[in-house]
Amino acid sequence: MARIGVLALQGNFAKHAAAFEELGERVVEVRHTAPLEKLDGLVIPGGESTTLLNLMRDEPWFEALRDYHSRGGALFGTCAGAILLSRRVRNPEQPSLGLLDAVIRRNAFGRQVDSFETKIALDASQQRLTAVFIRAPRFVELGQGVEVLARLGDEPVLVRQNLVLAATFHPELTRDRQLQRMFIDMASERVASGNDDSRHPAADSIPPGLAAERQRRITC
Ligand code: GLN
Repeated sequence: MARIGVLALQGNFAKHAAAFEELGERVVEVRHTAPLEKLDGLVIPGGESTTLLNLMRDEPWFEALRDYHSRGGALFGTCAGAILLSRRVRNPEQPSLGLLDAVIRRNAFGRQVDSFETKIALDASQQRLTAVFIRAPRFVELGQGVEVLARLGDEPVLVRQNLVLAATFHPELTRDRQLQRMFIDMASERVASGNDDSRHPAADSIPPGLAAERQRRITC
């Protein structure tokens, strides 16, 4: 079974945890970097990305999350979480993890329509789902390795790059659990492969010290 955690520093983490628990998962609320070691999937919830960045100053979160990613841990960022994962943030510029090859613009729907609910469809299955957008960002550029899984009109609102899934809306606020299932599957791939993160492309960039640690993890 995949071990799912929800970053619980700020924002909508309790609803995310409840959504995964509905599916029978035991969810860890992650308030420190150490528990990342034991996870296969981590949700970074919506909230306020600047506040989240401030709270992340207490521990070396960027380093820990990048290490977690390079060890093959899956990440699901929603709204502020998607902002944090992106390569570059606009409106205004701010630091980000750069684990998703995307440029994202904060609060990009303007004041008039800053929150709304609408139906979108998954590109692959045409399954429809309700998407709630709250002061949502927009992806303004996507790298070639980023796959668009759902759009609003022509605009990407759900994207995936390897083990990173990102939505500009709030899947924890609706009853549909398709995206939670999708993320459990992503995190489970790693479990099925015996945590062998050498399958993961980012593993190529693991520095030698970590690679040795990975070797220990695989063999023990
Ligand atoms: N507007 C927020 C930000 O820029 C994101 C909003 C949300 O997560 N619902 O961080």
